[in-house]
Amino acid sequence: MPSMLDAVVVGAGPNGLTAAVELARRGLSVEVFEAKDTIGGGARTEELTLPGFRHDPCSAVHPLGIGSPAFRRMPLDRYGLEWLHPELPMAHPFDDGTAAVLARSVAETAASFGPRDAGTYRRMMAPYRGKWDVLVRDFMSLPLSALPRDPIGLARFGLDGLPPYEWTMRRFKDDRARALMAGLVGHVIAPLSGLATSAVGLVFALAAHENGWPLPRGGSQSISDALAAYLRDLGGSVHTGFEVKRLDDLPPARAYVFDTSPTALARIAGLGRAYEGYRA
Ligand SMILES: Cc1cc2nc3c(=O)[nH]c(=O)nc-3n(C[C@H](O)[C@H](O)[C@H](O)COP(=O)(O)OP(=O)(O)OC[C@H]3O[C@@H](n4cnc5c(N)ncnc54)[C@H](O)[C@@H]3O)c2cc1C
Repeated sequence: MPSMLDAVVVGAGPNGLTAAVELARRGLSVEVFEAKDTIGGGARTEELTLPGFRHDPCSAVHPLGIGSPAFRRMPLDRYGLEWLHPELPMAHPFDDGTAAVLARSVAETAASFGPRDAGTYRRMMAPYRGKWDVLVRDFMSLPLSALPRDPIGLARFGLDGLPPYEWTMRRFKDDRARALMAGLVGHVIAPLSGLATSAVGLVFALAAHENGWPLPRGGSQSISDALAAYLRDLGGSVHTGFEVKRLDDLPPARAYVFDTSPTALARIAGLGRAYEGYRA
């Protein structure tokens, strides 16, 4: 171990591992410390029922994983990550036996909503088709620390995405479109009346149309395992079964990156009551 590491990462969830890889790719020395005996955090797979049956207790489907600009720059396929695409990313069934579907194609999705809403959905998606990479980089950089790559596109997205989904829902006439989009917005685990909930629905729908909603072969653990294997090849290391309670528990480093909640960071780093009012 060098006397002074460039960076220590606390937490081996997908974001912690990605941060560690990004640093190691730039030639920095990095070590990751994970409280649990296995890596992955919310991207893990476990034998929860019968031997040989592996389950994803947390994340399972990865529209933002396959569409991630960071993952695209990493050769994770060489470390065993293989995306599997279902025929349809998502379906919303109704009591009469029919379903509204989120398909890879905008046209098929729109058709499943019925003639009264098909055009509205196509018009809703049209400004963003083929612009995923730029849009997601700008959207994920909010609040902006630099000029957006496509300011006009982002402003347009802001106009469409900022209203609560309850308002956007009124653009649809029938339940099929309303319900399927509400299911997408529901991923944010907030009331449909919340500001910017429309953006969540748009991002998940666009993700399906641009890149699909794939599962990793072998479960979400494959994402974490691929990241950790790549990190080790870059010279980094991961320590499991190591719950960080105080900064003094960690080796000296020029930077500490926390993949924990802000409240845990405040406790560990001795920041007192900072982030006391934080709500996830
Ligand atoms: C039920 C559920 C379903 C979900 N489904 C999906 C889905 O299908 N698709 C999707 O993309 N996302 C999904 N998500 C969201 C996804 O799981 C998270 O966005 C993702 O796990 C966040 O990653 P992270 O690295 O930021 O944090 P985490 O995954 O939470 O990882 C944090 C890690 O830090 C470790 N840690 C914490 N404190 C310490 C400490 N003091 N010392 C050492 N280590 C510590 C933890 O043990 C953990 O391993 C779902 C979430 C939930 C709850």
